Amino acid sequence: MFFGKMIALRTNEEIALLKENALLVSKTLAEVGKRIQPGITTLELDKLAETFIRDHGAEPAFLGYEGFPNSLCISVNDVVVHGIPSAYRLQEGDIVAIDCGTRYKGYYGDSAYTFAVGKISREAETLLSVTKDSLYKGIAQAIAGNRVGDISAAVQSHAEQFGYGVVREMVGHGIGRKMHEAPEVPNFGKRGRGKQLKEGMVICIEPMINEGTKKVYLDKDGWTLHTEDNKLSAHFELMVCIRKGHPEVLSTFEYIEKELRY
Ligand code: MG
Ligand code: MG
Repeated sequence: MFFGKMIALRTNEEIALLKENALLVSKTLAEVGKRIQPGITTLELDKLAETFIRDHGAEPAFLGYEGFPNSLCISVNDVVVHGIPSAYRLQEGDIVAIDCGTRYKGYYGDSAYTFAVGKISREAETLLSVTKDSLYKGIAQAIAGNRVGDISAAVQSHAEQFGYGVVREMVGHGIGRKMHEAPEVPNFGKRGRGKQLKEGMVICIEPMINEGTKKVYLDKDGWTLHTEDNKLSAHFELMVCIRKGHPEVLSTFEYIEKELRY
């Protein structure tokens, strides 16, 4: 994936359009989340998301992206990212990462959440909460004057404390008039290194954290990325606007978590 070199600084008007996308993605994830239960197929979830996005006058950004066949990436259990929706029926105890993208008024939205299907193991619950917390640790560093490495190091150190593997092959990214723009935002790295963050940059921070080894392999379908040891993997992603003194998180898990009975 080529992210380009220019890091755009967005005007407030552009940020408002990115926010509209961010909220639509967030609401789509919540709609999908409401339907997640044992027995539903991942293709049914995909169609539901596509309809919801189109009903709001937007387009599913993943559909056709570099040839991707669907509107959502749906990654179950040992799938890290880029799972293709299928006739697979979710089963009690699965974890399922839903990654969603929109295109609306010339800008993009992109966020992801990993859901529990029914009752999941204690180990799976811990992986989900640590992965989400690692995202929040990264977001806390997304402030003007910091560097990309401050985000990366915060995510990595949190996840590795629990013995988890931090995926190297896939990274977060800038977002704007394209879905993937500069800078790359890895989930591993060193504090004080990398590009400096400036007010008006908009980035997606998206830890992909494995229960076991950080190593992954690509399925023969050319998309699906699995953990090498076939242990679980989780993925959470939010869109963040860089501001002075505080991060402005554009997308949100609020709609999702209102629906979950945790
Ligand atoms: Mg992304
Ligand atoms: Mg995404």
